[in-house]
Amino acid sequence: MAIIKQYVNLPSGVTNIHGTTRTLKLRPNNIPNVGNGDRVEWWVEPGWATNTDEIYLSQAQRARVRNAETVIQPSGFFENEVIFPHVGGDRWVVKAAKKGDRANSVSTDIFETWRKIYYTVFYVGNNSLNFFNALENDFQDAFKLGYVELENTTKTAALTVVAKVDGTIVRNPGLSFPFMAGAPNGVIDLAPSGAGTLTNKPYNVAILVAPDIYKTSQVARQELGRRAVVGSTVYHHPMFTDPGNATAWISQGQVRWPGKPWTNVIPQFSLPTNTRHNSVVRWDFSTVPGLTNHLATAANTYEMRYTVVRLHPIMGYSFCNFCLVRTKDGLTEVLQTFTHEVGHGLNQAVEKEPRWDTNGASLCDEHNPRWHTDVYGGRGPHCHTNAVLGAAPPGLTSGQRYRYGGAGNLCTMYWSGESHVDPKGKFCPSHCEPRLKRVKLDTASMNAKFWNYFG
Ligand SMILES: [Zn+2]
Ligand SMILES: [Zn+2]
Repeated sequence: MAIIKQYVNLPSGVTNIHGTTRTLKLRPNNIPNVGNGDRVEWWVEPGWATNTDEIYLSQAQRARVRNAETVIQPSGFFENEVIFPHVGGDRWVVKAAKKGDRANSVSTDIFETWRKIYYTVFYVGNNSLNFFNALENDFQDAFKLGYVELENTTKTAALTVVAKVDGTIVRNPGLSFPFMAGAPNGVIDLAPSGAGTLTNKPYNVAILVAPDIYKTSQVARQELGRRAVVGSTVYHHPMFTDPGNATAWISQGQVRWPGKPWTNVIPQFSLPTNTRHNSVVRWDFSTVPGLTNHLATAANTYEMRYTVVRLHPIMGYSFCNFCLVRTKDGLTEVLQTFTHEVGHGLNQAVEKEPRWDTNGASLCDEHNPRWHTDVYGGRGPHCHTNAVLGAAPPGLTSGQRYRYGGAGNLCTMYWSGESHVDPKGKFCPSHCEPRLKRVKLDTASMNAKFWNYFG
């Protein structure tokens, strides 16, 4: 029998291969022994042994036919509907026979349940495009195992080619993504910060591939009771510097003392030199008018406040239906980052799942034994397949964190980029892959994950 892919997450009605419900029609002469006035009975049968266990499906979610029996319709057909579960990787066959004559049934082809997610690529320079193309098949394959079919809509060149994309998310006032704001300052154009749109929302993830990425944050300090006009301070992070703008690294620098309002002293700071982890900020206020005179009186002090711009080199991130990666890390790491981040967007790794008994009564949730969250390293829900707990550096409340256990591959949903993560960015076959098959990716659940946010 032929296999028909049924994309159960997409809205019904556009084509009969979309949605969990599909109309079936049979002519009387297709059904053995059916005569005028006969009733036809319908039922579903599994098409193979690896369907998702119905314990994970409520009664309303289980495969079935709408009507157990039908009579001929004015259209001249026997008509019915088959209802598929929302899961991927199920196979079902619908059968029909004259009532009481199941031995002489007719069958449909095999329906195989899939979910479809679209992706739209933006690339910064042709190297980024070639880079993405080189990992695209593996990217699709990692999800195919969970019966999620990834389909590319378009690949679009960025508005400008830059060596590093500033991926900073601005949170005040309101959330905005300056790099998406369109020309002249944005790198790409995508709503809500820009005007660009995505098709097939809320099933479309926008992907930005860039050579390198960073983000910035503001770090403010205020110091009272200062006497020295020359000083320095060490920050345990690099500063954001821009060859074209000597003061890009400092957004505020002011001093004041009694009788004197806040005065700008940014020019009195010198450009800090970044090492990998440190940055030394120096200032010399001896030329600030009136300050030296003021400090000539031994009891006098002044106040200073300054805000520096911290540089955060980042590997990438995902936010709603947007994912940003840098090619700097190499194909394997970026592939892993993609499947990991899109995996989060598809609700991996889950902590627990609801279950029901044969009659549809609720059972207790099933807890994922490989699920872990922040206290053992990382932020967000992750998977610790093939990892073990070990001593953690200070800062983790648990005092322990997961690390590689020495055998097998780590899951792509492991909490950190690590050399033992599956080199093809795959979900662990024991825990995440079956859950990827079971996760609901219909409109309501994608909207709940804000997959309608960008574009
Ligand atoms: Zn993660
Ligand atoms: Zn896993």
